[in-house]
Amino acid sequence: MRRESKPIRIGPVTVGGGAPIVVQSMTKTDTRDAAATVRQLHALAGVGCELARLAVPDTEAAQALPRIKKESPLPLIADIHFDHRLALASLGAGVDGLRLNPGNIGAPERVAAVVRAARERAVPIRVGVNAGSLPQDARRGSVAERMVAAALAQVRQLEALDFDLIKVSLKAFDVPTTVAAYTGIAPLIPYPLHLGITESGLARAGTVRSAVGLGVLLFLGIGDTVRVSLTGPPEEEVAVAYEILKSLNLRQRGATLVSCPTCGRIETDLESLARAVEAHLQKIDKPLKVAVMGCVVNGPGEAADADVGIACGKGRGVLFRGGVKLRTVEEQDYLSALLAEIEKLAAP
Ligand code: SF4
Repeated sequence: MRRESKPIRIGPVTVGGGAPIVVQSMTKTDTRDAAATVRQLHALAGVGCELARLAVPDTEAAQALPRIKKESPLPLIADIHFDHRLALASLGAGVDGLRLNPGNIGAPERVAAVVRAARERAVPIRVGVNAGSLPQDARRGSVAERMVAAALAQVRQLEALDFDLIKVSLKAFDVPTTVAAYTGIAPLIPYPLHLGITESGLARAGTVRSAVGLGVLLFLGIGDTVRVSLTGPPEEEVAVAYEILKSLNLRQRGATLVSCPTCGRIETDLESLARAVEAHLQKIDKPLKVAVMGCVVNGPGEAADADVGIACGKGRGVLFRGGVKLRTVEEQDYLSALLAEIEKLAAP
């Protein structure tokens, strides 16, 4: 059961209201370099990213937005801090969403001007609280409670301006804090929630941290869009996000590789085979399950359970497709035989 939330539209993408959980990322190029940013947006679209946020730190970045928007394959969300003129310029450039906190862009009339322009264009605003930048005056309660209070204050400020195209995030590096914050705010507001574990680190630690944090929340039915934050290429963030969603059967995209961890029974170089198969699967959009197994103990069962599978033995393996044993394959032909069967299933 997923938490009910009010749907919003970011360009053509629906977030909340029971829509599929949306995968998003953030460009890491200098936004002032429109060509590099557009290239990265195309790379993100190629791996299944559905929404892209980009930082708009100054006027020059805002001036690059019209070209970026024109050439972007993805809906864009402008990330704004402090200067309401950057938000207005971003809206003027046609961005599909804003990420800003009304509390940090100054005087009420500036907030009202941004909200008015966003409402005219039906552009949603994400308000977000990061544990590392809680307001100075929110001193009471646990960090999670203070995050909820701070987020609610931002939401109420928008609601007071008769604006409800709202999305909310409450991110922390600490997983229990993040889970407590999201579970705390979930019953208090009707708006969709954007999930993330912020500053989660390099690929390995960040992937685990994100999988644990987002996994807990998604399993509880909380979350309408996700961003995995990694110190690394944004395409990797998208790949990890899909793996998290696939592991909970919330989204299906591309092929899934099942491979055994190997043990003392192994009699082939399974790791090399699995890596070669995985590299090939990156190019496949269909939700196929491919099993690469090391011996006859668990191998035949897993291989037969997949769309395509192989149970490797000593010098020979048994190839399966759709649960049916196809034939015995010589060791030097494991990869080519698997790829040939995968190609057949992946063909349009
Ligand atoms: S499938 Fe065979 S080789 Fe692989 S881990 Fe299991 S017992 Fe070991």
